[in-house]
Amino acid sequence: MPTRGRFTLLTIRGIPVGVDWSWFFVLFLIIWLLSGFYRDILGTSQDSVEPYVLAVVSAFGFFASILLHELGHAVIAQRNGIGISSITLWMFGGVAALDRDPDSAGAEFRIAAAGPAVTMVIGFACLALGVAIDGSTFWEGAGFEENADISTGVAVLAWLANINLLILVFNLLPAFPLDGGRIVRAIVWRLTSNREKATIFSARLGQGFAYAFIAIGIVMLLFGDLFFGAWLALIGWMLGSTARDTANRSKLNTKLGGLRVADVMDSEPVAIPAGATVEQALDEYFLRYRWPWFPVVDAGQRFIGLLNRGTADAVPETNRNSQVVSEIIDPGGSTDQTVGSDEPLDALLANVELRRLGGLAAVDADGRLTGIVTLEQVGRALRDAAT
Ligand SMILES: [Zn+2]
Repeated sequence: MPTRGRFTLLTIRGIPVGVDWSWFFVLFLIIWLLSGFYRDILGTSQDSVEPYVLAVVSAFGFFASILLHELGHAVIAQRNGIGISSITLWMFGGVAALDRDPDSAGAEFRIAAAGPAVTMVIGFACLALGVAIDGSTFWEGAGFEENADISTGVAVLAWLANINLLILVFNLLPAFPLDGGRIVRAIVWRLTSNREKATIFSARLGQGFAYAFIAIGIVMLLFGDLFFGAWLALIGWMLGSTARDTANRSKLNTKLGGLRVADVMDSEPVAIPAGATVEQALDEYFLRYRWPWFPVVDAGQRFIGLLNRGTADAVPETNRNSQVVSEIIDPGGSTDQTVGSDEPLDALLANVELRRLGGLAAVDADGRLTGIVTLEQVGRALRDAAT
């Protein structure tokens, strides 16, 4: 997916819409190919500018079609409580970046289907408009017969109807990560109630399609269709690697799924009592164990915060015997610094605090400290699951 060389064009519903540099290559190509195409169907002379104007209008129509398709996904995702960080248009179409995966099969289905639904509406709208303007001669134009005697505006509508139909059919192929593949995932997810199984199934199907795209692309290349052959093979290669990564992550999730935080944590954590003086904390904990931080617990073993070495060191020496640690810890961060010991381990994979601190305090339902789980322990569990 494009990340570099991207710049934002506009913001819609709070979503930055950007284009990748490769998009301009596509625009150029469309304008170049279409100007020749319009010259043929309209039967205009070589030096006429009309075909170029039509080609530019068509290219922008194409741009709008893809953007509306992605906005379809984005709006439905937002309605299902999922944020959209960006929409990017690039060489291979559009990408609406969802902040997270949908958490139900229904939401997955609705979000995946929304894009193709928008594309279908655009396609039919172009057809209806064309027929309304030109009547039955529109169909000749829509079939792209040469010298079809249709008005120029209608020729653009005909092209847009066709291209949207093509986008629709291509996106509905059950080739994950295409929309059709996501719809398959949603259906299998609903049928099996197992998200990971559904993901692996649709990703495998996606890989199959990807190999087919590559094979067909290579055949086209060999038969001289260099551009579309290369394009299809490249799309196949990209879809295949995304599908493979997704399947691998799902397999990992399945293996990790049975593991809880309690299974990997150190269940005999060293904790500083809230009533200890800073002097005691430094002597009996920091100097002895040389760890960068310790959990602090109250008399009932409840976790009340973390004490950093730096915070303890910063207390002036004359105060260290009188000041107790509960006074110098930051209670505000305490919820970010804990994880339920019954939580599944994969809940920790994206945890920012775990990465920052190198570990988190594990607590039970009553907030009592039950252990310390470190980044290293999570990493080891991941490596074990991956092999
Ligand atoms: Zn889509």
